[in-house]
Amino acid sequence: MILLPAHFPAQVFREPRVDHLPPEKITKYRRLRACHECDWLMALPRLKAGEMAKCPRCATPLVRRHRRPAQRSMALAVAALIALAVSLAFPFFRLSLSGIETRLDLPGLASTLLAFEQPIVAITVMLTVMVLPLLFLLAVIWLQYGLLRGRPLPASRSIARALTHLYPWMMADVFVTGALVSLIKVSGMGDFELGPAFWAFCAFETLFLFCLQSLDPDWLWFALAGEPRPPRGARPGDTAARQGVAGCPTCGVVNRLSATGWARCRRCAERYPVRRPHSLQQTWALILAASLMYLPANIYPMMTSQALGQVYPGTILGGIVAMFELGSWFVAIVIFAASVVIPIGKIMLLAWLCLVARRGEGVNARARTRVYRVIDFIGRWSMVDIFVMTIVVSLVQAGSLVSITPGPAALAFGAVVILSMLAVMAFDSRLIWDSPDQATSANPEGSAP
Ligand SMILES: [Zn+2]
Ligand SMILES: [Zn+2]
Repeated sequence: MILLPAHFPAQVFREPRVDHLPPEKITKYRRLRACHECDWLMALPRLKAGEMAKCPRCATPLVRRHRRPAQRSMALAVAALIALAVSLAFPFFRLSLSGIETRLDLPGLASTLLAFEQPIVAITVMLTVMVLPLLFLLAVIWLQYGLLRGRPLPASRSIARALTHLYPWMMADVFVTGALVSLIKVSGMGDFELGPAFWAFCAFETLFLFCLQSLDPDWLWFALAGEPRPPRGARPGDTAARQGVAGCPTCGVVNRLSATGWARCRRCAERYPVRRPHSLQQTWALILAASLMYLPANIYPMMTSQALGQVYPGTILGGIVAMFELGSWFVAIVIFAASVVIPIGKIMLLAWLCLVARRGEGVNARARTRVYRVIDFIGRWSMVDIFVMTIVVSLVQAGSLVSITPGPAALAFGAVVILSMLAVMAFDSRLIWDSPDQATSANPEGSAP
């Protein structure tokens, strides 16, 4: 037993209440959830720290329980923020080429691309690598600080709602892979040195991934806004749509659908349809747009090298062949996977999912859901090529002797990556499980009421 001085307030040593009150300790009634990938309605079991609840029909993880989620994610977010600040303040790479030294720092990446009149690529790189992760960390600190002191800070619910939309667009981990590939690519050209910011950014990326993993949205939403009772008559063991209810895509609470097929969440105020309206049409349109952009991405040069007055335009495929010939197998394989296998494979698999959608769960729906989950996960890794181009272009600027400039294919390839990511988001995976007769009755009107 610890004896405290009489004047010392005991609550200093008491842990925050939020970390000791997981939802299953407080609620008396069953907490229903509709699987966001197959629409199966289930009751969440009582979870202990380290346990996970999965959908019984398609095995999608629904809730992961952590020990002390508020303290843990707050601590990781603060540490990641410090590492990010260090990585922005120091040089990232140094390259000595023909007696000229180039230093690269992270904020300098955008200004180099702007100097080459690539504003859209510059904005995309800055947003995905630095700005969105920074906003995400600040949001986590804002939310968890409010919960740890016992009173949520203003706008907590809107911020928690915005967080769910940020997840796919934060690409610090892809950028680190791009930095490693460019390191190997450039190391043969001159004297090469890693700066302190490189290690700080690796630390940031690791802490950031741990912070993402430590977040427990189910607990967070429960601590922020409690949980309303499930709609009367809703029972586990059938799809939500057949019972006239739908699960909120943001906070998970099950709400009753209106006659138009839309619902408004009673907890987070999100307005959402039973199925994404015109999901297949939108997915097909985005697949077509991404496929069309893949042509200029391969026809035009990605990077143009100039050495001793000679100009060498380099397309994506040309760059891969050159790397093979130079013996850089690792770089060639990574770029081939990121720029050819992933985009083409993703577009073809998504087109196949659209073609066979609505055949009902009999046609191996579980395997199709797994395919959807894989293409959803790998899509962002195609950005590796854009990040490699950005770093190489920023580093190799040794005046008239050797220089590398970005080509028009960079913008086109960036468009392929983003359009195909949007296509995957537009596809409503619950269509895989809907039986053909249900599909028309479950389809909502095109616009919100
Ligand atoms: Zn499911
Ligand atoms: Zn909600």
